[in-house]
Amino acid sequence: MSESCLFCRIVAGEVPADVVLRTDSVLAFRDLDPKAPLHVLVISVRHHPDVAAAARDGGDVLVEMGRLAAQVAQDEAPDGWRWVFNTGPAGGQSVQHVHGHVLGGRQMTWPPG
Ligand code: AMP
Repeated sequence: MSESCLFCRIVAGEVPADVVLRTDSVLAFRDLDPKAPLHVLVISVRHHPDVAAAARDGGDVLVEMGRLAAQVAQDEAPDGWRWVFNTGPAGGQSVQHVHGHVLGGRQMTWPPG
């Protein structure tokens, strides 16, 4: 755990979150500032700064994150959904702890902003 990391503090229960699903290695909770009717963040329990770092560590947690994302989407966005990893400053990443955004419940547009 990184003491200064917001998502590590959510994992530790120090910051409240609206948790949707959890396993030993992954936590899914609703985004505080939703960009779609369904907006859930799926994060690793263990601290990795971004998706590339999680992949370098073996990537098993990314598979589990995808499994939970699909489970949330199956329940709440059966018509389709989007799975986004903002990565690095130009990618729009604001929290340096790997997280995938599950977005759904409306028609998504392309290209993204
Ligand atoms: P990103 O900008 O891709 O790093 O995504 C970070 C996301 O975390 C944003 O969509 C924020 O709205 C969300 N967020 C920030 N703080 C919290 C919090 N305390 N609980 C839930 N979501 C949060």
